[in-house]
Amino acid sequence: MKLCIIFPPLPFGWTPVAPPSLEYLAALTRRADPDIEIELISASADPEAIDRLECDLAAISILTPTAVPGYRIAEKLRTRGIKVVFGNMHASAMPEEAKTYGDAVVIGEAESVWPQVLRDFRSGALKPYYYGEQIPLDDLPTPLYGMLKGGRKHQFRIVNTSRGCPYNCTFCSVKPFYGPKIRFRPIDHVVRDVAAVPGKMYINGDENIWWTGKVQRAIDLFSALRGSGKRWMGFGSLRPVLEPEGLRMLKAARECGLLSLWVGWESISDEGLREFSASGKIGVDRERAVKTLRDNGIDVSLFYMLGSRHDSIDDFRRSIDVADRLRVSMHPSLVVPYPGTKLREQYEPYIYKELGWEYYTGAYALFEHPDPAMTPEIREEKFYESSLELLSLSRVLRHMVNVPMAGFPHAHILSLMSQIPVRSGMKIAFEKWKAEKKSVNEKRFIK
Ligand code: SF4
Repeated sequence: MKLCIIFPPLPFGWTPVAPPSLEYLAALTRRADPDIEIELISASADPEAIDRLECDLAAISILTPTAVPGYRIAEKLRTRGIKVVFGNMHASAMPEEAKTYGDAVVIGEAESVWPQVLRDFRSGALKPYYYGEQIPLDDLPTPLYGMLKGGRKHQFRIVNTSRGCPYNCTFCSVKPFYGPKIRFRPIDHVVRDVAAVPGKMYINGDENIWWTGKVQRAIDLFSALRGSGKRWMGFGSLRPVLEPEGLRMLKAARECGLLSLWVGWESISDEGLREFSASGKIGVDRERAVKTLRDNGIDVSLFYMLGSRHDSIDDFRRSIDVADRLRVSMHPSLVVPYPGTKLREQYEPYIYKELGWEYYTGAYALFEHPDPAMTPEIREEKFYESSLELLSLSRVLRHMVNVPMAGFPHAHILSLMSQIPVRSGMKIAFEKWKAEKKSVNEKRFIK
């Protein structure tokens, strides 16, 4: 039997980061049945691969922005007699929809049900739905790092150390998937996985690399990783940075190779944070926390959303001012009301239903705004304007000067490597947007 595990093309094309579900699901498969032949396809890296692939079963991992291309791939494969199983966050949020394009859907985390899926397929008794449990993370296999080979090379691999989140950000599609309780992996398993990552750099794929009230766990993990000889980056919240043991934690993080922290800044205004119920997660003087990170030799990138129903047109400009004041790189997206989130429930009456999931990329205005000045077209145009300004060559190079010297040269190279591909993808997307904006507006029934 041959299994093909597929990650559909990303909306903005190839990125340096390998989709983590491919090599991880390969490891779960190998553990469940070592006789199964496995092929991995990252369609952004190898667009032609789908047309030439041959297998008995295809597992397609879909997030909301990749759902539509995932469904198209499934249609192609099923006409060739290949059975299709969908999984990951979008399939879990919209299982009935996914089932209309596939033969089975894994809802939730895969570990507890994946061996059963494979057995059922072998015996010709695939069920329509499999319900994964949120299990303790004390026996996860190491992803089969390096198994993804075809097409353009992804340089970075992801290592996960925990799942789950106690916060309640209304826009979040991760928490509904992983649940409210933080589950940690044993530290020696994380050390084992980091050692297995090819190359000298990796990404911590957790929602948060350190948690309020659990700073000692972060210090223990970082201390255990000190001998890895590898450098890394990941998403982290600001609250633990200013806790009493915060400085000790930052030192341990630096010493085990943390170069750059990605921070969910979420909203430019405090009012926006309250609207998203994200104040609890941030809960501190956030500019002071960013300064503390930089003073401790850690580069910072801020990710935030624009165009919420409470945002004004001035917020687009204000975000540039924040980038200048804090000397960090900033990465905006337009607000996306993902399926399965509280934000979607709140915005339901205002959502442009004619825009399918392929528009859920963070670059489209997906709902009506109460301010007549914030037309969908203006929001999208302002989004591209501020993104391209934040990613302009002069700013990217200026940011290099501001990257803490403690991380030289890796943090500086990383800063370039992470911004230049995004800049190229953004420029292509902007041109595409200009060409198609009339037809997108027609879909919204705006003349
Ligand atoms: S902090 Fe907020 S956005 Fe991040 S996982 Fe938790 S609920 Fe989601």
